[in-house]
Amino acid sequence: MEVLKFGGSSVGSSKRIHQVVEILDRYSKHGKVVCVVSAVGGITDKLLKAGQLALEKNESFAAEFDEIRKIHLSLVSELIPNANDYVLEYLEEELSYLKNLLDGIYLINELTPKTSDKLTSFGELLSSFIITEVAKHRGIDAVRKNSQELIVTNSNFTKAEVNYLVTNKNIRDYFKTAHQLTVLPGFVAKSNLGEITTLGRGGSDFTASIVAAALQVKKLEIWTDVSGMYTANPKLVKQAVPIEVLSYQEAMELSHFGAKVLFPPTVQPALDLEIPILIKNTLKPEDKGTLIKTHSNSTSGSVSGITSVDHIALLTLQGNGMVGIPGFSKRLFEVLALEKINVIFITQASSEHSICFGISEGDADLAVTSVNACFEYEISTRKIRPVEVEKNLSIIALVGDRMKNHQGISGKMFSALGKNNVNVRAIAQGASEKNISAVILENDVKKALNALHESFFEVKTKQLNVFITGVGNVGHRLLSQIEQQRKFLKNELRINLRVMGISNSRKMYFDEEGIDLGNWKDHLEQGEQASLDGFLEKATQLNKRNSIFVDITASEAVSQMYSSYLKRSISVVACNKIACSSEFHNYKTLKNLSKKYNASFLFETNVGAGLPIIDTLSNLVASGDKVTSIQAVLSGSLNFVFNNFDSSTKFHDVVKEAQKEGFTEPDPRIDLSGVDVARKILILARESGYEMNLEDIENDSFLTKANLESDTVDDFYESLSEDEEHFQKLFSAAIANNSQLKYVAEFDKGKAKVGLKEIPQGHPFYNLEGKDNIVMFYSHRYPEQPIIVKGAGAGADVTASGLFADIIRVSNK
Ligand code: ADP
Ligand code: ASP
Ligand code: MG
Repeated sequence: MEVLKFGGSSVGSSKRIHQVVEILDRYSKHGKVVCVVSAVGGITDKLLKAGQLALEKNESFAAEFDEIRKIHLSLVSELIPNANDYVLEYLEEELSYLKNLLDGIYLINELTPKTSDKLTSFGELLSSFIITEVAKHRGIDAVRKNSQELIVTNSNFTKAEVNYLVTNKNIRDYFKTAHQLTVLPGFVAKSNLGEITTLGRGGSDFTASIVAAALQVKKLEIWTDVSGMYTANPKLVKQAVPIEVLSYQEAMELSHFGAKVLFPPTVQPALDLEIPILIKNTLKPEDKGTLIKTHSNSTSGSVSGITSVDHIALLTLQGNGMVGIPGFSKRLFEVLALEKINVIFITQASSEHSICFGISEGDADLAVTSVNACFEYEISTRKIRPVEVEKNLSIIALVGDRMKNHQGISGKMFSALGKNNVNVRAIAQGASEKNISAVILENDVKKALNALHESFFEVKTKQLNVFITGVGNVGHRLLSQIEQQRKFLKNELRINLRVMGISNSRKMYFDEEGIDLGNWKDHLEQGEQASLDGFLEKATQLNKRNSIFVDITASEAVSQMYSSYLKRSISVVACNKIACSSEFHNYKTLKNLSKKYNASFLFETNVGAGLPIIDTLSNLVASGDKVTSIQAVLSGSLNFVFNNFDSSTKFHDVVKEAQKEGFTEPDPRIDLSGVDVARKILILARESGYEMNLEDIENDSFLTKANLESDTVDDFYESLSEDEEHFQKLFSAAIANNSQLKYVAEFDKGKAKVGLKEIPQGHPFYNLEGKDNIVMFYSHRYPEQPIIVKGAGAGADVTASGLFADIIRVSNK
């Protein structure tokens, strides 16, 4: 005899019922089969809703009923096209009982737990009838048996307890002779007084387990819509994978803490007789599923799974007088038990001055009144304070039999949560050490589950979620580099890089699944209106772990957003130099926020585009070295200009050319005036540990007064033309001295300056070509022969690859 249970998700549509019957057909060819079914997916909720509406005298209960009726009738018409009168009459009759019951609730304004059970029982009664008829229609020797005639309980409505003695006998007697297939409605039962009862939400699993135990079968199969119990809820964690084998204990812990796949009491009857439970997927019967048995014997990691329960309220009772109150905990938990309030979670501070427990949010108000009433005297004498409640919380739990012998698991858990800015409200570890649970904000659950999953199960793959502002020249290249590299990153570096949001100054666009980069321009055009706050808000609201904000603008307003991102633990990667070269205090604040919120703040491209200049410097500093002096040519644009300028060209034309090639800032005056280079040496000095501001940097400009005073870019170009002679003079003077013109930045003895210099032959700067940059760091460790970094220091492609490198660096944080 085989016992199979199909959940609501497996009987939610005619297509699925068809698959169920196909499985039953296959099984019943090899032996006798008992099939326990849930109500059609969503029907139990609809029945409860209709009842609630009727109770509230809201006439729309009738519409809810119509919907329930329609769902069942259309299943029948799709599955049994020429159903005989008996089938339709039976259905209509059941449905009219249901309608009468709802009318009754509406009229008398009352919905007791007893009536509620009567109401919800229709779900399983209808589904089991339909499935039996479909099976018969297919030619299977099938019969439906009402499990209310087999399972006997007490009168604890909505969650009745089973009388196993009577129940087991009933089941054994009934199945002495059996058809090939017996279909039983799950969830429903009757009390010994003959009243309709139910076994609790999700209780069909339990029915199946009771039957399996009574018949002492070899295994129990629970068929659902996923391929087993996963390492985390697959609907919330994409990377979750099915667990091959679990112990009963682990399965119980996982389902207790929210893995709906299995209703926790289900495990008990199976466990008592050591009947293995196999979880299978109706939609993919070929998948292996999860086997639950006495010992999991698994050799994989110490954590088996991660789960969560939503809608939790946390109640705290505290006061100095608590220590002396006799039987305090006993009284507290007694009053909760009396009110049938299930306590999911308890922690007591070792000081015994407070006790904190988690319950279902729906029970919170009742718990507060009853606990306050129970301790009325102690509260009035100020020994303890009235209960405090917090709502909108969830519990997340790590579960595993082998956690016990592994130190450091909770450390790893809380550091993963902390890194992702998940605030932990309370912590509990079961005495068995088979679970560690934490109470967090409901809003953070998805992020927390993914972060924990990543740190315990995907040692290898790391998710980076990128939000890019500024998709001009450089941004464009970055997006295409990401598109080209995605596969390589995933396969080789185990980094799953997704662009979640993009924005230019007009529009912004988001996709939680990762933007299709082949088509980002069209998406962006159809996006919403851009706003800096809106972008931040969306990145915050998506609440992804390892989020990175990338600034590829030259905008001051964008740079002012960094602190808000960092405070939300979102890393910042910027090629915009404004923030790092702004007031020292502001730069320092951003660095500090980055530390405090564990979010990277990276700006390698601020100096020398993609060259690893800041990285080299940071490594020196981090290893305890002290930079004493820096000599550098830091402007790819000025280098391009002076390398191409000679007596046969015009200064104006060379600058124009540089701008056209994208080697200058959008406003070329920022480069030519030396401001851009001054900002860069300032950043290098700051990164070397010196406190300095832009005004402290000596800037001896080679431009004329007219150039410097021009109001617009056009005026500037015009004045360059007019002053051609001035530039030619600079050039011929250098040639006469056997030198080259280079725009040099220097830092020495705490002072910095920038300016045009004649560089003599033989100097490392002399042969610097094209738009190359060069930096020489002198330090305590490198006093004479400096560390030199040299290479292409400007251009959209190299800047984009510098940004890309920073994004990847975030994954190492
Ligand atoms: P059924 O209708 O078959 O009883 P349920 O909806 O009660 O199915 O349970 C299956 C669902 O449980 C899955 O679709 C999934 O969303 C959820 N679930 C939660 N945690 C887990 C987990 N760890 N592994 C698998 N499924 C999970
Ligand atoms: N139909 C009931 C519920 O939705 C029982 C079950 O599906 O297991 O809770
Ligand atoms: Mg279920």
